[in-house]
Amino acid sequence: MDGQYLPMSEAKISVLDWGFLHSDATYDTVHVWNGRFFRLDLHLDRFFGGVERLRMKVPYDRETIVSILKDCVALSGHRSAYVEMICTRGSSPTFSRDPRQAENRFIAFAIPFGSVANKEQLEKGLHVAISETVRIPPNSVDPAIKNYHWLDLVKGLFDAYDRGAETALILDTNGHIAEGPGFNVFVVKDGSLRTPAFGVLPGITRRTVFDLCAEIGLSATAADIARAEIKAADEVFITSTAGGIMPVTRIDDAAISNGQVGSVTRRLMDLYWRKHDDPAWS
Ligand code: PLP
Repeated sequence: MDGQYLPMSEAKISVLDWGFLHSDATYDTVHVWNGRFFRLDLHLDRFFGGVERLRMKVPYDRETIVSILKDCVALSGHRSAYVEMICTRGSSPTFSRDPRQAENRFIAFAIPFGSVANKEQLEKGLHVAISETVRIPPNSVDPAIKNYHWLDLVKGLFDAYDRGAETALILDTNGHIAEGPGFNVFVVKDGSLRTPAFGVLPGITRRTVFDLCAEIGLSATAADIARAEIKAADEVFITSTAGGIMPVTRIDDAAISNGQVGSVTRRLMDLYWRKHDDPAWS
């Protein structure tokens, strides 16, 4: 934080920081698996893309950020970690309401890798509820900016808990499936994959699924998914840095793939984790 390495308990930001007050910040999360970053370049591209679109300035170049992230992991002592880099608008020394007056801040941290889904959920598959909540701005302003705006996703999550599900999918402005709290979604139908195209964060794990599909000759496209289609899919899975590829075996009251983890999902999950030992994917 601001050029210093600190224990988490000593890292503090001002309540006047626009990241806190207005969600005026961007961030990215990358993971380290057995001492090796996974697809770090793609995460840095997305991070710098967001910083540029928000007209912020990170006080370090890309190479320095890589070395800061590596230092954070080394100092944390974790072999497998979840590493977050953040740029906030910061605050203005004169309390100005002009974002150009704010001093942007860069913060990074490393915490132990903890998957979104536990081992049992990965074996059994997740129960997901479709919430009526619509994924709205700021994500629709520029979905490529990874941001902390999660009010819609958290509302979706509570809808899901109320219905006994483990997590939620929310909708885009046309009522199609969008994404969930921290993940993208794929359906498999007749051997082909589809993931929503619009109004969603272009996830790096989502992109990785496209790369894996290209490698093994599966067709994958980004296009709308209607609510009825997802329930009639052969297989459904969700994707995120924090959990990789995670199977879904129930949506609302509909069993997916007879309530079992499907074979395409299983194949992609295996391949995804095998790529973590391949230096070409670090
Ligand atoms: N969608 C949203 C809203 C997210 O916050 C995230 C990750 O945090 C994702 C999708 C998945 O993106 P990635 O695969 O890059 O982790």
